[in-house]
Amino acid sequence: TVSIVLFTSDLRLHDNPVLCAALRDADRIVPLFVYDDGLRATGFAVPNRRAFLADCLEDLDSELRKRGGRLVVRGGDVVEQVRKLAKETEAVALHVAGGVSRYATRREERLRGALEGSGCRLVVHDAVITAVTPGELLPAGKDHYAVFTPYFRRWSAAGVRDVVAAPRKVRVADVSSDPVLPRAEITGVSPGLDTGGESTGRRLLRAWLSGGIAGYEDGQDDVAGDATSRLSPHLHFGTLSAAEVVHRALREGSSGARAFVRQLAWRDFHHQVLAARPQSAARDYRSHGDRWRTDKKETAAWLNGRTGYPFVDAAMRQLRHQGWMHNRGRLVVASFLTKTLYVDWRVGARHFLSLLVDGDVANNQMNWQWAAGTGTDTRPNRVLNPVIQGKRFDPDGSYVRRWVPELADVPKRYIHEPWKLPDKDRARLDYPDPIVELTEGRARFEQARGV
Ligand code: FAD
Repeated sequence: TVSIVLFTSDLRLHDNPVLCAALRDADRIVPLFVYDDGLRATGFAVPNRRAFLADCLEDLDSELRKRGGRLVVRGGDVVEQVRKLAKETEAVALHVAGGVSRYATRREERLRGALEGSGCRLVVHDAVITAVTPGELLPAGKDHYAVFTPYFRRWSAAGVRDVVAAPRKVRVADVSSDPVLPRAEITGVSPGLDTGGESTGRRLLRAWLSGGIAGYEDGQDDVAGDATSRLSPHLHFGTLSAAEVVHRALREGSSGARAFVRQLAWRDFHHQVLAARPQSAARDYRSHGDRWRTDKKETAAWLNGRTGYPFVDAAMRQLRHQGWMHNRGRLVVASFLTKTLYVDWRVGARHFLSLLVDGDVANNQMNWQWAAGTGTDTRPNRVLNPVIQGKRFDPDGSYVRRWVPELADVPKRYIHEPWKLPDKDRARLDYPDPIVELTEGRARFEQARGV
């Protein structure tokens, strides 16, 4: 007998309940990945994530080969490819991880329809992409938690599922496979993009658990120190399992580990919001009737890291260069766009998704809404001041100097406010004046929101 595993955002062998269930079901499996035309048509498959994905698939194939198997890759419509393979192999089951985006739930419905009456049953597995299944924890009388703190309390008390071991042997059905598109053939990739794949993810996790995690509580906002785990792309592609990361971090036991686990709960929190309100990927979760401004020049300055606010510009340039941005940077640039410039959060969310290697519908859209005050933030009208944030989280300006080389020689006391330099020094810099006065931006926003 044969069963099919459809890999989606769970590109791993360790702690993969989907794979383990398929192996229990049949003596041979089809470990399948489909380059899905439908997903490509949504514009989601951008160069940075395609490049990271190439690493993931190569590593998955190589790890499967070590166990006597291999990866089966196909292109086309995912449902059609599954239907064809199920027929060809007379598969008894198709196993897939449950997703929360509209795309994932629609795919699930289509798979169910396509397999109906075929003898191949569809099994959707929970708590594979998140540590806790979206919808499992509910406040009385409601269909999701809208506030993080009570969610986190329940989440911590509930605990996450047990970890399952990686299989030792994998037997694969005799079916053809297309090649993996090599990373080197993908153009338009950020030069400093991280390497993907489960082996890399596991190495990073080990290093993080025995090193950085202990200092996470104090260091998480030190933008220049890069003192966060940088595991987000691995969690996004599922080369690391969120449940396993939670267990191993809790075993480490420090206060840093507890602070880190809290961030993983934020990930689950946003997923359960999106699962309950899939329309909030595109629409305000909580509307204030905003009449957003459209200003092409200011928006272009923001996109290109030329706003004249060094901390904002450094973060925007880090995004372009690495396909990743520090969380503190994400908060500051998002507040700047949506509150100081009062430009629609969707403009920023779209730009982030075009570059972020960890770009994720749940985390990106819900964090953008949080920052814009249209989401779950209980203080929706707070505005972050990029000068104060810069002085606080990049006190000696190393982050700014790294990403905005025009400012490399500016003395520390002016690094977050280069417009205050003496005229002759200011004139020598090829760096713009601020595109907007912070106090004006704030006043405009507060007036619009009726604060
Ligand atoms: P760490 O600080 O080491 O945290 C560990 C893990 O916890 C992260 O890998 C991530 O999975 C999770 N996490 C941490 N903070 C958050 C958060 N606020 N919300 C949800 N999960 C969190 N994260 C994404 O994974 N994908 C996105 O597309 C994304 N877009 C964002 C957009 C905006 C405007 C903002 C403010 C935040 C966004 N985040 C997103 C959340 C956060 O910035 C990143 O997860 C984090 O910076 C990744 O770096 P790290 O792995 O070193 O994080």
